[in-house]
Amino acid sequence: MFEKILIANRGEIALRIQRACREMGIKSVAVHSTADSEAMHVRLADESVCIGPPSARESYLNKAAVISAATITHADAIHPGYGFLSENAEFAEMVADHGIAFIGPDPKHLRTMGDKVTAKKTAKEAGIPCVPGSDGAVESVDMAVEIADSIGYPVLIKATAGGGGRGMKVAKSRDEVREAFMTAGTEAKAAFGNGEVYMEKYLGRPRHIEIQVLGDKHGNVVHLGERDCSLQRRHQKIFEETPSPALNAGQRDEIGEIVCKAMRKIGYDNAGTVEFLYEDGKFYFIEMNTRLQVEHPVTEMVTGLDLVREQIRVAAGLELGFSQKDVTFEGCSMECRINAENPRTFAPSPGLITGYHAPGGRRVRVDSGLFSGFKIPPNYDSLIAKLIVQGSTRQECVMRMRRALHEYVIDGIETSIPLHMAVLNEPAIMDGNYDIRWLEEFIDRQQKQAAAEEKLAKNEEKLAKKK
Ligand code: ADP
Repeated sequence: MFEKILIANRGEIALRIQRACREMGIKSVAVHSTADSEAMHVRLADESVCIGPPSARESYLNKAAVISAATITHADAIHPGYGFLSENAEFAEMVADHGIAFIGPDPKHLRTMGDKVTAKKTAKEAGIPCVPGSDGAVESVDMAVEIADSIGYPVLIKATAGGGGRGMKVAKSRDEVREAFMTAGTEAKAAFGNGEVYMEKYLGRPRHIEIQVLGDKHGNVVHLGERDCSLQRRHQKIFEETPSPALNAGQRDEIGEIVCKAMRKIGYDNAGTVEFLYEDGKFYFIEMNTRLQVEHPVTEMVTGLDLVREQIRVAAGLELGFSQKDVTFEGCSMECRINAENPRTFAPSPGLITGYHAPGGRRVRVDSGLFSGFKIPPNYDSLIAKLIVQGSTRQECVMRMRRALHEYVIDGIETSIPLHMAVLNEPAIMDGNYDIRWLEEFIDRQQKQAAAEEKLAKNEEKLAKKK
């Protein structure tokens, strides 16, 4: 087993990984930028190394700085967390070249799944159902129109190198396909350094359902059920739950088995997530994430497993030690992503935390590095905490999440807590009856209502003045 692990990340996930290390008796090394010197993941680590200035490009994304930090502290493994360098094949190879273990899958899988066209091709060949679309990259406008005509409108033009919900355009007609093809390519080149695009049928009102897998280096693969991540704004998840209110046990076993078979076929090891859109009882593969995901705690809550511990164990070459029949699911779990942002305009709201009180009680988990006096730097992602609850039934889960949100105090900045409170009061959410469009429509309705109320108030003010 490893003796010391360097955690190449920050914030709640760095802390999450550190917790697993400590519980396993493994020492941890934190890395940080100058903006994060006072951060909790640095304070609680056994050792810490400053790897650069606030800009992520010069610190958390600086491969040489991270590897040097691991070398000077004699770390024998690196856990990349999510985001930053977690899916960077070149980084994983550099780590291995330095005689350090990368806690994640083989770099070849990072490479295959990191390119969406190759990922889709690989998934299809391994027997995973995919969204109808182009066979690989689309090379010309004429080809784009021809493919759109054959799969039917509307279509989605996606950047091969896209990610984080960016690099997608919907086109409803031939003219729109022509325009979207041109702009998507140019924009993708500017944003991702790769202008290649591909096409998919645009699904109207699907749910986003993903399957968590875990594999070892001995050919064992299990699935840990699904997560429903349909509540999204601009293709970014804000709330996740398991089990999906749309699936039954039979459907879960069926898709889980398909995914496990595919993962065995490609020889996948470590943690991974296969993402699907789900509509009219059918699954359509969209991508695979070859790392730990933000929403992994809901899976941990219902399975009782520690995913980071399992990642570390399999990276060290150990066998999983359990099989599919040993994986059981108890009750339901939900997660709210708490962002430092205005809950109506979504403008980022970094700054000093002047007061902090985290919720507690039965079956409540908070993953966060926040504390009173911490100054959230403006340089990184706005995710500052994850609130996770478990319940025997979905109803119990909703009620527990509402009371936990009610207890949560984060003073000094704006957060998305009020948005979660409003969402969890909606009948559609209480009934589990929502899809990937629901949240944006809800926000739209709320914004319109707020504008109407503001107008009314102004008119009343004017009337009062006249009187
Ligand atoms: P990213 O890597 O940017 O997260 P994904 O391919 O995982 O991109 O898609 C992110 C989200 O975009 C999905 O959860 C879904 O909301 C939407 N999406 C992706 N593909 C389609 C599609 N073919 N039809 C409709 N919506 C889609």
